[in-house]
Amino acid sequence: MNKMVITCALTGAETTKKQCPALPVTPEELAASAEECARAGAAIVHLHARGDDGSPTADLKVFKRAIELIRRKTDVVVEITTGGAVGMTPEERIAPVSLEPDMASLDCGTVNFGDEYIVNTLPIMRQFASEMNRHKVHPTLECFDVSHVQSSHILIKEGLIKPPYHYGFVMQVPAALSLSPKTLGYMMDQMPAESRFTVMGIGRAHIPGICLAIASGGWIRVGFEDNIYYAKGRLAASNAEFVERAARMSKEAQLEIAGPGEVRKFFGLRGA
Ligand code: ZN
Repeated sequence: MNKMVITCALTGAETTKKQCPALPVTPEELAASAEECARAGAAIVHLHARGDDGSPTADLKVFKRAIELIRRKTDVVVEITTGGAVGMTPEERIAPVSLEPDMASLDCGTVNFGDEYIVNTLPIMRQFASEMNRHKVHPTLECFDVSHVQSSHILIKEGLIKPPYHYGFVMQVPAALSLSPKTLGYMMDQMPAESRFTVMGIGRAHIPGICLAIASGGWIRVGFEDNIYYAKGRLAASNAEFVERAARMSKEAQLEIAGPGEVRKFFGLRGA
């Protein structure tokens, strides 16, 4: 598939309404945002759940309601997080996979996350990959570092991850790997042949991430999880505004935008 696939990470675990009033938080807001993003050209939405007070939650009821509402409104591919939030147990993080979303993120290693850190040992990664296989959920192999791409080879060799592989390169997280043509190129070099990748440029790496994805045959992720500023000092009005720009930039680069159906078919997702 030579088209551009755009993912929108609607809300994440870190961004707050206070920082970003347009942040979708409730299942209803998430579904409305997902529909808008799909209309703007997103084929995939990446989903975290929040509790009533706006803080990240692993509550299955909230995930279930968000997924149901999204599916009622749009056929966009739903990818849930299993990164969860800082401080969640592995059991809490993997639980929403039982709701049978289309895809899920699978963090491929331990990483600094600003002042915090996220733990992903090989046993945790194996457990998560097995659960995803059990529920027929396709993983996005999230890599915050070159060593994470290399670690994914262990799971592949063990038969826990099947092609076509989808990597998510999360770059410019504070205290983790920065984004540059060299760092991205080195990540890409470590991927097995049958791989596709999405560039997730965090914060000020947002637009460079889009440009590097377009230039290197990758896919794009945008959204409030990764970045809240549309331009210097100007908050984005919505997730869809980010998707619209990413679609515009891709089209200017003569790339067609893939729809959810094409992504389902490519990865052999449920309902393909
Ligand atoms: Zn996420």
